[in-house]
Amino acid sequence: MVHIRIEDLESYAFNNNIPIMQKDGIEFLCKYIKENNIKNILEIGSAIGYSAIKMALVDSDVKVTTIERDKERYDIAVNNIKKFNLQDRINIINEDALILNIGINDKYDLIFIDAAKSQYIKFFEKFEKNLKDGGVIVSDNLSFHGLVEDESKTNNRNTKQLVRKIRKYIDYLKDNPNYKTTFYELGDGVAISIKIK
Ligand code: SAH
Ligand code: MG
Repeated sequence: MVHIRIEDLESYAFNNNIPIMQKDGIEFLCKYIKENNIKNILEIGSAIGYSAIKMALVDSDVKVTTIERDKERYDIAVNNIKKFNLQDRINIINEDALILNIGINDKYDLIFIDAAKSQYIKFFEKFEKNLKDGGVIVSDNLSFHGLVEDESKTNNRNTKQLVRKIRKYIDYLKDNPNYKTTFYELGDGVAISIKIK
């Protein structure tokens, strides 16, 4: 029997610079999952499996499908999922989410986008067909360490470009007539977009 605690994943991520969800962000998301009786989740960006494990632990009938393109992180995630004995409820796929095809008949209550920030619109448009009516799309890192609110904190060209992409995504969410989006200033900036038609 391998003993592992959630805190072990948090310190592993901290020590290895793995950008897992911030504590208040993941607590908020888990509370949302519990209160809204969410059972089927699709996650884009597993990293080491931390958020997938946290979400699966909300309730014994929560199921998570999660996608991670990086093989090394995928392997670590697979191991972590086994240590928590959640392999029956977390299905992890080692693939680039923009290449992977998920059948139109696989529908989710919640889709959590937490991968390459420059591609959020692409993820959104690719996977919204897999969202149930009344389902939600959750997006993380819309604050990008506060840079989205105040770009002058960086002089790096690539970072500035990324900031612009995130702003574009925020506008995209605001202007999307099929979703009602609420932005939350917690964690690194979280949005919840409810599908209204
Ligand atoms: N959700 C995790 C953190 C994810 S970090 C948690 O909170 O615990 C973002 C991850 O997305 C990285 O590991 C990165 O490799 C992965 N990623 C980025 N772009 C991706 C893509 N196109 N397809 C699949 N995974 C991707
Ligand atoms: Mg994130």
